[in-house]
Amino acid sequence: MMKAWPPEYDRSYLPSPKARFWFKDLETMDPQEREQKVILPKLRAQLKYAYQRSPLYKKKWDQAGIKPIDIRSLNDFEEIPFLTKDEIRKNQKDHPPFGSNLCVALKELARVQGTSGTTGKPTAFGISKGDMDRISVAHARAMWGFGMRQDDIVFIGSFFSLYWGSWGALLGVERLGAVAFPFGAGVPGQTDRAIEWMKEVKPTIFYGTPSYSLYLAERAKERGIDPSKDFNFRILFFSGEPGAGIPSTKKRIEETYGGICIDSGSTAEMSPWMANCECGHRKGMHFWQDIVYAELVDPVTKKRVPYGKEGVTVYTHLERTSQPMIRFWAGDLSMWVNDPCPCGRTYPRLPKGIYGRADDMFIIRGENVYPSAIEDVIRGIEGFGDEYRIVITREKTMDEMIVQAEYVKGTDPERIPQLQKKLESELKARGLRSIVQMMEPDRLERTEFKARRIIDKRSLYDEMIKQ
Ligand SMILES: [Zn+2]
Repeated sequence: MMKAWPPEYDRSYLPSPKARFWFKDLETMDPQEREQKVILPKLRAQLKYAYQRSPLYKKKWDQAGIKPIDIRSLNDFEEIPFLTKDEIRKNQKDHPPFGSNLCVALKELARVQGTSGTTGKPTAFGISKGDMDRISVAHARAMWGFGMRQDDIVFIGSFFSLYWGSWGALLGVERLGAVAFPFGAGVPGQTDRAIEWMKEVKPTIFYGTPSYSLYLAERAKERGIDPSKDFNFRILFFSGEPGAGIPSTKKRIEETYGGICIDSGSTAEMSPWMANCECGHRKGMHFWQDIVYAELVDPVTKKRVPYGKEGVTVYTHLERTSQPMIRFWAGDLSMWVNDPCPCGRTYPRLPKGIYGRADDMFIIRGENVYPSAIEDVIRGIEGFGDEYRIVITREKTMDEMIVQAEYVKGTDPERIPQLQKKLESELKARGLRSIVQMMEPDRLERTEFKARRIIDKRSLYDEMIKQ
């Protein structure tokens, strides 16, 4: 099935507008047959390529006593050691700017992108010219899968900067042949202008972060505009934050805009390729396994978990020539299944989304807490607005979690204490002991990008103790 590696896709190819699939055979193939005929050959070629061109992998695999030629099955593949975020950072520090994993000559690069560096030193990504084509096809396939067609106007309401999400969406829209509306975000006054343009141009598809879509809707409503009537969105798709996979947030976005809410995305290290994405049926993101091979592994035994079980994400590029990530330990918590999806694709799915992002997790009184669980509770209770904060403090060496949540405008003052109690008890039912502080509407800061909703003050307490 695989002719050559890296794959070169026919640039003139488009499915018929009525077709449900971009590549029908590949997307509906028996999963085991696909593993044997498509994934394994691509994987072996990718491993061989990385071993020959990347001093990082050569050294790492030599030390582990592994030769790519010996990897003959996906079970053998589990012998390959994981690659971590810290390793990538250290490698880039030792071999600036791209690390010893670039694999192509500088002149073969098309783009430099990177992480925003909010949680450490930024990571640099070089994207090769050939990879640009493959990225655009990967995006177009997934977008076709959730229903984008050529007569759609796609509003990209997200930063055009180091962040890959917006650029990837743009590449996919252009490859698919839909109408791109690369509006951007983050400039003062831009949200108000976005609202005007949405009324005027009537884009049919929205891309951005879930937080931003809710903020934008709030601003529109303040001006007497109803996003479900005055705008024209039939599809809203998201990445960069877990919200679109959190049931109550998904419901809130769909009710607010009157369109379907699609979850997508993995991590910055993998993200030029959109290989985690829901189809139009919204039964959880599919792992598009022939683009990026994804595993869920047990965080303790480090073995792949069976379908129906929970594990953390490990990803491997299958068609990347610049900086391929091989068994990249993203470490985000999820659960996967392999039962049939109504769309007909035979890729595994994540029916609960990625509900535990490794970067967002915090530990309180020895328990792992994922903010998405708290978000699901808040947004599931009628009477609460869209914004909240989680403040963690330490009182006399005991951790305290304070949840600050806004009630909606016009709430009867007598109802406020009831709402507070309801939220406290629902969090408690999920094992989350907290103090809920009710906040007036609009008290908490809004974001046009990724929200930072966790404020951990414990380090302050520790510093005070030391003095
Ligand atoms: Zn599906």
